[in-house]
Amino acid sequence: MPAPNYPYLPPGRAFKYVPADHPFMQAAEEARRTLAGDRVFPVGAVLVKDGAVVTDAGNGWSRGRDGGHVCPRFVRSCPTGTGYDLCGDFHEPSGHAEPMLIKRARKCGIDPAGADVYMNGHWWCCEPCWQAMIDAGIRDVYLLEDAHGRFSKEVLTAAMRPSIRSIYVSGGLTNLPDDVRDGHKAWYERIGAAAEELGVRAYVPHLHSDPERHAHFSPREVYDMDVAQVRAADAVVADVTYPSLGTGGGLDVAHAAGKPIILVSKKDSRVTRYTRGIPSVVYHIEYETEADGLRQLQNVLKQL
Ligand SMILES: [Zn+2]
Ligand SMILES: [Zn+2]
Repeated sequence: MPAPNYPYLPPGRAFKYVPADHPFMQAAEEARRTLAGDRVFPVGAVLVKDGAVVTDAGNGWSRGRDGGHVCPRFVRSCPTGTGYDLCGDFHEPSGHAEPMLIKRARKCGIDPAGADVYMNGHWWCCEPCWQAMIDAGIRDVYLLEDAHGRFSKEVLTAAMRPSIRSIYVSGGLTNLPDDVRDGHKAWYERIGAAAEELGVRAYVPHLHSDPERHAHFSPREVYDMDVAQVRAADAVVADVTYPSLGTGGGLDVAHAAGKPIILVSKKDSRVTRYTRGIPSVVYHIEYETEADGLRQLQNVLKQL
């Protein structure tokens, strides 16, 4: 297998490779699964000294800061190298797995000098990370064999699937303006269909308890049904283009139950700060066209 064309490699350095069943690489895979906060490109690493794993870390600040990141660059399909300002400092090299690993080792009183790094989820190291490892006296960097084939951007993004299994699609019904009522209900159904396309089950309330078609349900029955469905779902997608008391109440139920919330609204509609400020809101999609909104929604779901 020819060596890949690394975007950066310091003089005199080369990667070493081990198979997936190597115990230290398995430990790095575990770090990738449990510590990486970057959902699009999760990377885990372990530090090995004197034949034993001494510490582990993940990129995206080892899930520090906000505990995970729905990446707006991926949601909006930003071309490579653009849109970094959308993410704040989330992908900064200082939050990459390698420097996090060195930091964690020192915090535990371990000198990283002479230790090896085993990394899972990436196929090269950026220049600031190499510099941090060289400064710390790291000996060798081990990657998974065929890392380039497994972890190139194209491969990773094509393979992305939501890990959530179901959503509750929330949005106003009773007080929708008359001229948009039918169109907006159809929009909720398209939101549900976009999720189903990715294998995520969608509960669309008006198909079960529509204020007109299912008028026989009592207010309490509707409340109980909706609360139960919010609690049963893995996440809530709420269209908040039109204000709705029921939607607002449901969002607080979702937050109390620890469900991630995705807000969706037509660009330039007014969404209250209270709603946008709910801590469980992981993303707010402001769409220009419905097609654009659904594409963004699928890109958010793939990161959950
Ligand atoms: Zn990002
Ligand atoms: Zn890096």
